Amino acid sequence: MVAPKTGVLALQGDFAEHLSVLESLGYRSQMVRSCLDLDVVDALIIPGGESTTMLKLIDRYEMRDALVKRVQSGMPVFGTCAGAIVLADRVSDGERTLGVWELQVERNAYGRQAESFEADIPVDGLDEPVRGIFIRAPIITDAGRSTVMATWAGQAVLVRKENLLAATFHPELAGEHRIHRWFVENLCSRGE
Ligand code: GLN
Repeated sequence: MVAPKTGVLALQGDFAEHLSVLESLGYRSQMVRSCLDLDVVDALIIPGGESTTMLKLIDRYEMRDALVKRVQSGMPVFGTCAGAIVLADRVSDGERTLGVWELQVERNAYGRQAESFEADIPVDGLDEPVRGIFIRAPIITDAGRSTVMATWAGQAVLVRKENLLAATFHPELAGEHRIHRWFVENLCSRGE
């Protein structure tokens, strides 16, 4: 089997950090900036950043329909922070997301005091906790039928459903490689 090639949506946000995690794990990867790029990847990471800006750029580059179609046909996708918001189907401020995942999220939900913070997060299936960096993170207010893989302060912070994985924190900024490895090894080997 040819190793899957994981794309990183590179319109805005911390895509470079995701690419460097994939690279250091020895996985095939590439930046995705157009529908043509999307056609040649097997899986996609949607990075953190600013979901409103990212969604504007998705529309400007006419990628919305192609992204929705690929997700619906089973392409594995990992969204971190803003990337999780982009995937969700209900957002507190009514933002027009891709809406491909039955998830309700509230943007910037930790308030001013805890806008950005770090915490050690125990994750199902991993022996040691993950260092979670939260930056103006959303809260998943309804995970629907998704599987919750990690919580912090009683809130789901890492969830999965079928081909989809979302974190409200940034493993790629913490030198943390295990979640990316889990994504590629568990979700990307299922084939589309
Ligand atoms: N606050 C950003 C948003 O609402 C997400 C922040 C992040 O990705 N770290 O889109």
